[in-house]
Amino acid sequence: MDAELQQSLTALLGRERVSFGESIVDLHSRDESYHTPHRPDAVVFAQSEHDVVSTVHFARQHRIPLIPYGAGTSLEGHTIPVRGGITIDFSRMNRILEIRPDDFLVHVQAGVTRQQLNDALGPHGLFFPVDPGANATLGGMAASGASGTTTVRYGTMRHNVRSLSVVLADGSLLQTASLASKSSSGYALTPLFVGSEGTLGIFTSLWLTCYGIPTKTIAAIAEFPSVEACVRTSTALIGIGLPVVRVELMTPRYLAVVNQQLNTDYEEVPTLFLEFSGTPESLAADVEQASAIAEAEGCTHFHHVSEDGARRALWNARHNAAYAMIHAHPGLKHMSTDVCVPISRLPEAVLHAERLIDEYHIRGGLLGHVGDGNFHVSMMVQPADPREMQEVQEFHHRIVTHALALEGTCTGEHGVGLGKMRYQEAEHGAALGAMWAIKNALDPLGILNPGKKLPPLPELNLTPQCS
Ligand SMILES: Cc1cc2nc3c(=O)[nH]c(=O)nc-3n(C[C@H](O)[C@H](O)[C@H](O)COP(=O)(O)OP(=O)(O)OC[C@H]3O[C@@H](n4cnc5c(N)ncnc54)[C@H](O)[C@@H]3O)c2cc1C
Repeated sequence: MDAELQQSLTALLGRERVSFGESIVDLHSRDESYHTPHRPDAVVFAQSEHDVVSTVHFARQHRIPLIPYGAGTSLEGHTIPVRGGITIDFSRMNRILEIRPDDFLVHVQAGVTRQQLNDALGPHGLFFPVDPGANATLGGMAASGASGTTTVRYGTMRHNVRSLSVVLADGSLLQTASLASKSSSGYALTPLFVGSEGTLGIFTSLWLTCYGIPTKTIAAIAEFPSVEACVRTSTALIGIGLPVVRVELMTPRYLAVVNQQLNTDYEEVPTLFLEFSGTPESLAADVEQASAIAEAEGCTHFHHVSEDGARRALWNARHNAAYAMIHAHPGLKHMSTDVCVPISRLPEAVLHAERLIDEYHIRGGLLGHVGDGNFHVSMMVQPADPREMQEVQEFHHRIVTHALALEGTCTGEHGVGLGKMRYQEAEHGAALGAMWAIKNALDPLGILNPGKKLPPLPELNLTPQCS
């Protein structure tokens, strides 16, 4: 961006909202992944919807890429401005606009974070369940189609965004849906924009579904002789309709890192971390039934806790597992697979991945949201070492192609960004043509987060307008 454009952008928005400073553009050149950073030309700290609209008009007029930025915690290079341009940072649009306890709805600006939202909902006896681990923004979580440990009970962002305020690439505004809890009216735009990774529109505010805080919650761990026994148990618990809120698999490699980093002493065997909620009366019976099911699958140790502190301590290990892995490998970058398969194929997919971890001597480990058929392998890598990167990429490729062969997806929740673009054709085939038609209709100049999500499709002769 030349000096003249810099001046007009500053004149348009005011000095306090625009930065070209080294440290600021540097901070917005990367996410939390291993992908190569690339700086934006400018960072706009939007303070209102009007700022976003003005920035979009400016970018459109000058054909400049626009990259929405929440907390920058995504894992596939989503926020990296690969073609330069203007990053719109939402950290200053962080107001909770309205809480409607009677409708179980909350209206937030896009830069509100998950923890901030739950602090505000708590006094109303409510909470927002989607929990991707990092303290991400709700705008970023919606745009990346995030989910996490509670998906098995409460669903993903797709299930919990009721309606979005979106600024389109031509600077116009739309609301994706009414606030009704169901509707057969019009096309379903909300789930289209959720997961669009900043490529179809820019969210300024979101209406989200929230839930009553359960009367009682019990956490448990169950240790098993094998990963298959863990998965079978998880499937059985869900199958009989027990009120499972979380069911997470930790493998011995991951538990070893957690023990070392968090000073815990978990048995380093395949383990399920579980959470159940309900009334005190129903929960006692539910946990007893869960314990019996686990035992039938060969569980060697089942331990449950209900007191708040003990429960948090137990879940702390699972919650901070990825950060424990990162801290255990200073100087290395975190790369994560994120495949999801039909639940019946999960044991096969996990065992295949575990074998490959040994074969490739991967520094890292596997953990999974087993109730959803979703698992991650954390790989700690040195991006500057081309030989290591080639091997790790080959390992990663084998896991993803295996998941696709099992009728799964290349990403259950982290999204496509840069890292998963190469699998879009294999996974979606001709449907990619329809996706490009939507992209071109909503963003004909290709200014919204270009170079992400959709690969070019030469064989279908659908050349993207911004390539
Ligand atoms: C240790 C660790 C563990 C993680 N575990 C999980 C997990 O279990 N599940 C999971 O789903 N994710 C996980 N993640 C990934 C990450 O936290 C999520 O993808 C998160 O939803 C991204 O939110 P963000 O605010 O950081 O968005 P960013 O990273 O800033 O942006 C993500 C995408 O959203 C777009 N975007 C941001 N704001 C807007 C907006 N207002 N309008 C339109 N587009 C926008 C960006 O352009 C980008 O494409 C993990 C990350 C880390 C570091």
